[in-house]
Amino acid sequence: MHSPSLADRSIAAYDAVTGPDRLQRLRTLAEALDDVRILHVNSTATGGGVAELLRSIVPLCNDLGVDTDWYVMEADESFFEVTKALHNGLQGSGTRLTDEMKATYRAVTGRNAAAIADEYDVVVLHDPQPLGMVETLAEAIPNAAIVWRCHLDLSDPTREHLAFVAEYIERVDHAVFSRSVYEDGIAVPSSSVVHPSIDPLAAKNADLDESTVATERDRLAPISLDAPLVTQVSRFDPWKDQFGTLEAYRRVRSRVPDAQLALVGSMADDDPEGAAVYDRVAAAAADDPDVFVLSELPDTAVNVLQRRSDVVVQKSIREGFGLVVSEALWKRTPVVGSTAGGIPLQIEDGRNGYLVAPDDVGGVARRVERLLDDEERRTSFGRNGRAHVRDGFLLPRQLVDCLEVFAELGDRDP
Ligand code: UDP
Repeated sequence: MHSPSLADRSIAAYDAVTGPDRLQRLRTLAEALDDVRILHVNSTATGGGVAELLRSIVPLCNDLGVDTDWYVMEADESFFEVTKALHNGLQGSGTRLTDEMKATYRAVTGRNAAAIADEYDVVVLHDPQPLGMVETLAEAIPNAAIVWRCHLDLSDPTREHLAFVAEYIERVDHAVFSRSVYEDGIAVPSSSVVHPSIDPLAAKNADLDESTVATERDRLAPISLDAPLVTQVSRFDPWKDQFGTLEAYRRVRSRVPDAQLALVGSMADDDPEGAAVYDRVAAAAADDPDVFVLSELPDTAVNVLQRRSDVVVQKSIREGFGLVVSEALWKRTPVVGSTAGGIPLQIEDGRNGYLVAPDDVGGVARRVERLLDDEERRTSFGRNGRAHVRDGFLLPRQLVDCLEVFAELGDRDP
């Protein structure tokens, strides 16, 4: 296990983006938790939404006086093959789990749990990768409350994969889901719903000065920020359906010939499918000079693309929450997204973007076209999107929700 290095963050800086009541509530909760030690465990330090959340939550909790650590599991490719199969199965279609795969999962999670030497009051295991640590942890730190925070879309899990994780889920003290529907059919002693959020002060989301935009404009060339631009930002993962977005774009371009498409993605260390999906997407777009398949861009470049695109698309087939939707809306860019998972929490259809069924490529194309044709609509949708994210999906709100869960767990009888 290792702890990622993190930049310091100060909660006082959030005064400008959130009301004083919320900051006061955070300080009150933090005082109640001043003798509580919290540990977060996940399986990658970079790439994907969980790492994105922890990079902000962990330093801010420490700034508030809540002693918080973050460990990333040590594991190799064979473990991540198993956990990606689990991830896919829990979202509805995964390769079968063999006895050997289950044994790998048990061995690696057990070994990582045994490496935790300190005492904690609350241990939060993010997603299926560290979930198997619960058995060893419950024995080693019996007074700790163990929380499973699930970021996946559990709307239609495969029975076999759910059965495998169920024996671990039963042993946690509490589970946190990103949407209420995900709790259905999952047996856990107690649970709550916490919607994820974006960090408005992170380099990914902060306002940018003109010189930073100019630097990124050069880096992003030959993409033009002055011609119509449609962007999707997602890990290269079959659930994100970059192929559907590409197909929708091709239909749009038959009417808007100068439209460009940027498919921007990253490779998370714990996602073994990333490189293969990237290769397939890049090959599918190779003969199209106006489609740009980009990977591993710095946060400020992602920021510029989300900010300067005319439309952002998120055509996921499944989506736990989809931070990228709030990231774009916060930057006043309308989003055309699918109705999968957490996306409809963020897109208000016809107000800040459009919602379409996950398999409706033609629907995506028509909505993108409508937005490209109408600057006034884009501006008013952008204004609405910013307000919607400010109300519901900024970090201080999520921090309040998390600390409330921890405070409640701290009060329970061991
Ligand atoms: N991301 C990024 N660069 C990329 C692709 C994704 O920084 O090339 C970030 C993205 O901005 C977001 C996170 O990775 O903050 C993805 O989170 P989301 O909840 O949308 O999806 P997940 O990857 O967790 O399924």
